Amino acid sequence: MAIVIQKFGGTSVRDLNRREIVARWVNKAKQSKDQVVVVVSAMGRRGDAYATDTLLDLISGKERSPAEERDLLVSCGEIISAVVLASNLRDLGLKVRVLSGGQAGVITDDNFGDARILEVEPTVLEGLLAEGTIPVVAGFQGRTVDGRITTLGRGGSDTTAVALGAALHAAVVDIFTDVDGIKTADPRIVPDARTIAELDYEEIFQLANLGARVIHPRAVEIGRQFGVAIRVRSTFSESTGTWIASGHGTLDPWAHRDPDHSVTGITQLDHLMQFNVTPPSSMLKDWAYHLFMALGENKVSVDLINLFPDRVYFCVPPEKTSITKDTLENMGYTFEAYDDRAKVSVVGSAIQGLPGVIGRVMAAMAQSNIDILQSADSHSTITLLLHRHNMEKAVSALHRQFHLDEEVSRT
Ligand code: ADP
Ligand code: ASP
Ligand code: MG
Repeated sequence: MAIVIQKFGGTSVRDLNRREIVARWVNKAKQSKDQVVVVVSAMGRRGDAYATDTLLDLISGKERSPAEERDLLVSCGEIISAVVLASNLRDLGLKVRVLSGGQAGVITDDNFGDARILEVEPTVLEGLLAEGTIPVVAGFQGRTVDGRITTLGRGGSDTTAVALGAALHAAVVDIFTDVDGIKTADPRIVPDARTIAELDYEEIFQLANLGARVIHPRAVEIGRQFGVAIRVRSTFSESTGTWIASGHGTLDPWAHRDPDHSVTGITQLDHLMQFNVTPPSSMLKDWAYHLFMALGENKVSVDLINLFPDRVYFCVPPEKTSITKDTLENMGYTFEAYDDRAKVSVVGSAIQGLPGVIGRVMAAMAQSNIDILQSADSHSTITLLLHRHNMEKAVSALHRQFHLDEEVSRT
């Protein structure tokens, strides 16, 4: 009997109609004799009563609540969702039990708001599965060793699902969502983006890390570490979705290494803060070293760093704006800060060392009159920092440039 983890995202459990569809997926797996563990996100999106953002809005604008209290608040969203979905599952005659993340054995560190899973203690889940009960687990949350509730970072229900899959040696972790699978670009920007049948952990990690929010990068990382087979698929269609695993085909990205077809997907990240910093003339020695040490001590993680002898450009997420400004002011640095930036990335394992790829990226930007403000690259990614208003245009232009709307055989 195989263990299957089924994770349902916020839009999948938003209302009764959708939860009835979810219940049919759970029932189908149960009828085919699988042992099923269900993981849920909070119901709906901002504006829906119990969605994560709606709960957070309840305390926004007030004196900032401690992170531990914010976690207590938002953890309720997933708990409500689990209890409500469980009642829909019981309507089909299924035997279920609701568990908070902590009750399901998800033990984390105490980095509230962005906690890491230290271990999953699977005995409670194993006991329920052995007696034929379907555990319905609140995703996105865990508990510290001393019992305090934590959350795993936005989008973290995926992480719960894959971590449980690893601990229970599940045959597959199905991430059910509102799109057919992982696509060559965000379908909200590129409606004709194609669903990618299969991806290796490295490519999907890059796509997720650079903005394809359809799966959380940490979930991919856990999947890679423990060899968990993950499938991203739609709650609302029978499509086969995207497999993330090694060995579900003969995928070899290098087999199609021509610059036109070397890219797997385009991603975007909105709302970045860009800083342009110059040191005081009295402090020309080691200034960058002091700067980055101070930012690190203040828990600011910087991105897209372009360092020159007399200045540095870098980006931080918007929530780190004021701590970054305070740090720079305290050190006497001169800086400009821009809040209208976005980054767009090209991802593909096959681009490594392939002549002509960066030329095509530049061609796409030039033809669309898009200024590039900064750039960075790794062996499988090229990232551009742009004005926010050019983000959608750039994603579409790159998608066309690399022929991602065309069917390509990758086996
Ligand atoms: P869930 O609530 O099911 O976890 P998310 O909103 O977290 O759903 O993720 C699904 C959304 O991710 C899609 O609706 C889509 O707009 C967005 N998305 C961004 N990039 C991609 C991509 N490359 N492929 C598929 N979806 C993407
Ligand atoms: N509800 C949480 C969030 O909105 C977790 C998730 O959806 O995965 O971030
Ligand atoms: Mg999600």
